[in-house]
This record gives sequence, C-alpha cells and structure tokens, in this order.
Amino acid sequence: VQPVRYIPDWLTTRATQHPQQVAIVSPDGSLTYQALYDAACSYAASLCKLGVTEGQRVAVLTKKGQRYAVMLHALMQLNAITVPLNWRLTGAELAPQMEDCGCVLLLYDEDATSLAADIMEHCKPDLGARQIEQLEVTADRVSRDDVDLCRTHAIIYTSGTTGRPKGAMITYQNHWWGAMASAMQLGLSINDKWLVPMPLFHVGGMAVLIRSLIYGTTVVIHNGFDERAVNRAIEDEGITLVSVVPAMLQRMLRERTRPYPTTLRTVLLGGSAAPKALLEQALSLSVPVNQSYGMTETNTQATTLQSYDALRKVGSSGKPLPITRVAIAAASGLTTAPHVEGEIVVKGPTVIAGYYNRPDANEMTFRDGWLYTGDIGVLDDEGYLYVLDRRSDLIVSGGENVYPAEIESVLSQHPAVLESAVVGQANEEWGQVPIAFVVLQPDAQASADDLRAHCRNRLAGYKVPKDVHFVSSLPRNASGKLLRRALREQV
Ligand code: ATP
Ligand code: MG
Repeated sequence: VQPVRYIPDWLTTRATQHPQQVAIVSPDGSLTYQALYDAACSYAASLCKLGVTEGQRVAVLTKKGQRYAVMLHALMQLNAITVPLNWRLTGAELAPQMEDCGCVLLLYDEDATSLAADIMEHCKPDLGARQIEQLEVTADRVSRDDVDLCRTHAIIYTSGTTGRPKGAMITYQNHWWGAMASAMQLGLSINDKWLVPMPLFHVGGMAVLIRSLIYGTTVVIHNGFDERAVNRAIEDEGITLVSVVPAMLQRMLRERTRPYPTTLRTVLLGGSAAPKALLEQALSLSVPVNQSYGMTETNTQATTLQSYDALRKVGSSGKPLPITRVAIAAASGLTTAPHVEGEIVVKGPTVIAGYYNRPDANEMTFRDGWLYTGDIGVLDDEGYLYVLDRRSDLIVSGGENVYPAEIESVLSQHPAVLESAVVGQANEEWGQVPIAFVVLQPDAQASADDLRAHCRNRLAGYKVPKDVHFVSSLPRNASGKLLRRALREQV
C-alpha cells in the first residue's frame, strides 16, 4: 500500500462543486469560491509571466486580508511557497527573514510602500518587487489539478519571543491534518462562518483561511482587531467560530455585558495562556471558550480544552488532538505519567518538517521524531495538559522551580494592577530570586509592599517577588507577547 500523496486541488474542487458558496467576507467585499478561483488563477498567470516557478519563495506584505488571501491562493496554484511578512515589524527585522529564505519576489500593496521600499533590495534581484495593484490581469489562467501533500506550502516565521525568528516550513500535509483534527475537536457545519480578527501572517490566521477552504465554508476577515466590530459581527452576521488571543477576548468582554447569541459555537483561544479571571468572566457570560496550546511549529493547536471542560479544568490547555501525541521530557526520559514537570514534546502530522536554513535549531528542536517545544508543562491524572512556562523563563530559587506566569497571574488579580512581568535576578543566597515589573491601572495606587503582601497571601514565600519595579509599559514583540528576555537584560 502506498501512502496517499496527491489529492484533488482544494480550490478547484470547491469552485467546481460549490461555485456560489461564499468563500471570503471582508471589508473589501465578498468572494464566492468561483470568484476566488478566477482571481487566483488569473493572478497565477500574471505571476507566472513574471517568472515565478514552483518551489520559489515569494514574500507577501499587505494589511488587507482579502488581497492577502487572493495572493496566497495564486501562489498555491503555482506551487510557489508563500512567505507572509508581519507588517508590524520594521524593515531591519524583515530584511533578514527575506534573505534567510531567499525570496525571489516581494508582493506589496499601496499601504505598505514605505516598508516595502526598505526591504525590496533584499529579495534576489532576478524578480524584484511588485505592487499588487499593478500586476497585469488578463484572461489567462494558470491552475493546478492536485495538491501534493508533501510539498511546502509556506514559510512562516516564529514570533521571535525567545530569540531570532525561525522560518517554519508548513506543508500541505500539516494543513490537511490540522483541518481534520480541528473538525473533530470543534465540529463542522456547511453553514460555518469563521471570523479571524487576528493577523493572517501568523499560523493562527493562515490556518483558518486554509481550513475554511478545505471545508468549503466561509471565512470572515477583519483588517485589524476592533472589539466593537467583532462583537457586532457575532451578533448580526451569524459567526459560528472566532479565533482570538486572550488580550482580544478581554477587550471583547469589556465591551459586551450580555451573553452572545447561541449561533456562536466556539471562541478558539490561542497564542498564550488566558488569565483565570478572564476565563471565569467568559463562562459567566456563557461564552463557549476553547483554550488551545500550540505554536508555529505545530501549525496552531497541539492540544485543545473543550468548552464543556472549561470550568472544571480552568488553567489547563486541554488534551492532545486525536492525531497528536504529547509527552513530558523528564530526567528519566519521555513520560505521560501525571504530575511530572518537564519540557512538553509533541509528535504528529501537524508538526512542521523543520526550520528553513537552520540546521542548529533543527538539531535542538527535532529529536527522535519529537518536537521539543521549549515550554514546560505537566499532565494531570486525566491527561489534561497544564502549560507552566517557557523553559528559558524558568527561575530556579533555592532549588525550587518558580514559574513567572504563576506569579504574574496572582499579581493581575490585584485591582490596582494592569499588567505585570516577573523575571529572575541573580542572588548570592538563593541563586535566583523573582522580581516583578508592574504597570498600574490608570489612576490606581499601590506600593511595592501592598503587592508583596497580596502575593504573600496567595503564594509560597520563595515565589513572592523580592522587588517590585513600577513601569509605564512592558516590552512586547510585534505579536504583543511579553519579552521577558528584554527585562532580564535590564536587571
Ligand atoms: P519564538 O519561537 O520565535 O521564540 P514564539 O514561541 O512566541 O516565538 P509562536 O510560535 O507564535 O512563537 O508562539 C508559540 C508559543 O506561545 C508556545 O511555544 C508557548 O510558549 C506560547 N503558548 C501558546 N499557547 C499557550 C498556552 N495555551 N499557554 C501558555 N503558553 C502558550
Ligand atoms: Mg517558539
């Protein structure tokens, strides 16, 4: 028996079988599967004329979700590899990514001209840079018949929270299995409308585009996050699923005080752990939250907590996808035994083939068929995963493991605290001690002693921050993730 490698092209199939079904709704208009197919195949023809061939890397830089989606589909029809660029980064941050993966062409639009000007010299000079609005559109069509599941579809750079971003090679197989597993976890209906107010250049956004394509359902794109627009779409447009990060859900719930309509089946939370208070608030409004744990290297979720478990297992990221294995790397080897803390390792068909051009990182991250995530976690008696923190942020104080996330979560329960970050400081007696950086709520007052007393009532003594520094903001990367390494450099 041969493994299945080629299946009919996803877009061609949808355009043939359900041409009038709506594929994309966006502020820039809606597209049926037929219209999306026509646009993609005609752009594929013009890119082909420019010289783009299969396997070449093409960078795409646009804030407009619909335009991005059409370019993504055009490149897929050519079997070229899409490199979505994060337009929140600077030219100095993007240029190394383009050079790293050897982009032959940069596609950008009018909103991105100045950033594009900063980086265009970094694509291989043969094809250069092109403004999308100026691409030639003729009656020519280029399309493909099959999807080769073993092919690389995209190179997506990790968020760069722990170091230099790495180019994750996402294959068509990663997408196919991700879509199958997501349908098994979250259910599937032909009437689904999946809202993505998240950027489409990360796996979280990209995966929704591709899953909706595989399912033949509708994706609703917002160009940027606006909680009022999201809440309105859920109320008025029959949204059934929405993908957000915890900070977005926080803003949505601040604006909305009554329950959402029952058409909303799933709020898929990813990117980081949600504070307990937020989950409780969501549950009090009957918001069906599915907390997930995943990363660029697993093409989104590796584990998901079903909404029916949300209350019973607050703080957990759930169970592995039905196609995925999760274990804990302990000193004695890999284990799925409960209550053993160690690095989380993942295996399964959504795990990427590797990083592009990074043998060093590949050797460290992919071992014996497992992905070493760099995150520390623990399983409970029922096999539910709790993500404790990143290995690189762990503080060891007097031989005890101290997880910054746990202390930050306690600090955030203090009414005067807007946000906080905890890092380790070298200490002669204990090796390291935790210290906190705190941003207070506007107009709120609290002293370092107040906050330490608050922690002392809720945490073991060695976890109470030895120092509290009040700051006006915390360093975050372009995805909004806390950069504890920047604070560590300060102390
Ligand atoms: P880089 O790998 O470049 O340092 P990054 O790890 O932040 O950046 P992403 O792939 O966007 O890049 O993020 C994945 C990481 O986000 C995970 O490894 C984990 O640390 C964190 N994360 C995701 N989901 C959760 C969760 N449910 N709970 C805690 N942390 C989470
Ligand atoms: Mg990472």
